[in-house]
Amino acid sequence: MSKEIPLGLSFDDVLLVPCLSDVLPPEIDLGTLLVRGMPMKIPVLSAAMDTVTEDKLAIGLAREGGVGVIHRNCAVIRQCELVETVKRSEHTVVDKPITVRPETTIRELHQIMREKRISGFPVVDDDGVLKGMVTRRDIRFLEPDGRQVKEVMTPRERLVTAPPNTSLSDAKSILYKHRIEKLPLVDKRGRLTGMMTGKDIEKRMMFQESCKDEYGRLRAGAAVGVGDDAVARAQALAEAGADCLFIDAATGHTRRVVTILTEIRKKVDDVPVVAGNVVTEQGALDLIRAGASAVKVGLGPGSICTTRVVSGVGVPQFTAIQTVARVCRKKRVPLIADGGIRFSGDILKALAAGADSVMIGSLFAGTEESPGSTVIWQGKPFKEYWGMGSIKAMRKGSSDRYGQNASGKLVPEGVEARVPYRGSLGMTVAQLMGGVRSGMGYIGAKNLQTLRERARFVRLTPGGLRESQTHDVVVSEEPVSPMTGAADGE
Ligand code: 5GP
Repeated sequence: MSKEIPLGLSFDDVLLVPCLSDVLPPEIDLGTLLVRGMPMKIPVLSAAMDTVTEDKLAIGLAREGGVGVIHRNCAVIRQCELVETVKRSEHTVVDKPITVRPETTIRELHQIMREKRISGFPVVDDDGVLKGMVTRRDIRFLEPDGRQVKEVMTPRERLVTAPPNTSLSDAKSILYKHRIEKLPLVDKRGRLTGMMTGKDIEKRMMFQESCKDEYGRLRAGAAVGVGDDAVARAQALAEAGADCLFIDAATGHTRRVVTILTEIRKKVDDVPVVAGNVVTEQGALDLIRAGASAVKVGLGPGSICTTRVVSGVGVPQFTAIQTVARVCRKKRVPLIADGGIRFSGDILKALAAGADSVMIGSLFAGTEESPGSTVIWQGKPFKEYWGMGSIKAMRKGSSDRYGQNASGKLVPEGVEARVPYRGSLGMTVAQLMGGVRSGMGYIGAKNLQTLRERARFVRLTPGGLRESQTHDVVVSEEPVSPMTGAADGE
């Protein structure tokens, strides 16, 4: 009973103190590591939640320089498809283009186009030799009947092709010179080895900060649970091209998570595995010993989370990050601060406290790219957002995250909610990173390493917190920014 109770601080309890600075926000480098050997241009991940991260948001975030973690509240096959869509969305070279045969029927072609959402295909024979190209334009006015692709395709003799090692700038010139969209790469024996497209080159020029793998494909993370299918799911996701797997559990400091982590590491040795969530030094140590490539921190800070009130367990997020960072720094394992980010200032505090990146749910749930449609409520646009521990999500499959059985009586640890619609993900990320850059400018930190070295915090009183927010005015115009949320004036 006489044990001393340490203090637990949250983001609102602290502020960073400014230092002498000659750093301007545009000069700041926000680069970080997701896991060792996997850099990100911005320290941001999206939450593995079914109202936050599917293919669209993962593509959008990777283009901005972060990584989206595809949720697991669906069949393995569906989750793999979502990962594949991200991986296929941009390439320098499409190394395994989807092809059709000369004998493929127009009916089949229509179906493939619909399913794969691709408008043009190289046509190859059984030996992989390029025979032609067929695009939507070739079949636009044709009935989906039994006629064959070879009757309508552009034949090989009329195609512009290039050798397999064609550079990006050469490809650009060829595409422009011939005013074509797709450039098949063909070896000396006429076999198709890959394809370059104008769209990919254009996107590459537009999103220079994208987070990409060594083949120029956008990176994608994917969540696995702790149920019986966890290892099989991990293997399928690795095969689908996931760059990093995330063991998704409310508490990662359990024998079950350690066992699953060890198993996945054994079976999927070439894909890094992030594990969590923990909030103690011992929790982090146990996961790192079991092979975690990064450790995720947070028990109860999430906007939709009720774990702390339901169970009475948790650690305020700022203190949790500082605590776990002591182990992560020593072991050189990246730390991901998961949950509780409401403002750009929270991101800066998390990074300064020792996080290498943050994971965001609610701020992204309101973007155009999140799954689900916009609903109008009291005349304003919103998007639905629910916790993975809410009854709704647990019934769909996430109950093992909370050690519960979906067929039994569920005890929710999350709520169903809605968040203000906030427009494009790109705008939200720009506002968030703008705020982080501004904070680093005040502190004189050119990069995250210097930020951590220079960081000094002061603790706030309730008076200090009141003073930090707008006060004694009636706000007449809300800035459309994540600092306030687009519809804060509710
Ligand atoms: P947010 O960014 O909305 O504050 O927090 C998102 C994070 O909350 C997720 O990445 C996940 O770790 C956590 N989370 C998601 N759903 C639930 C839930 O229903 N209960 C709890 N305890 N945490 C949740």
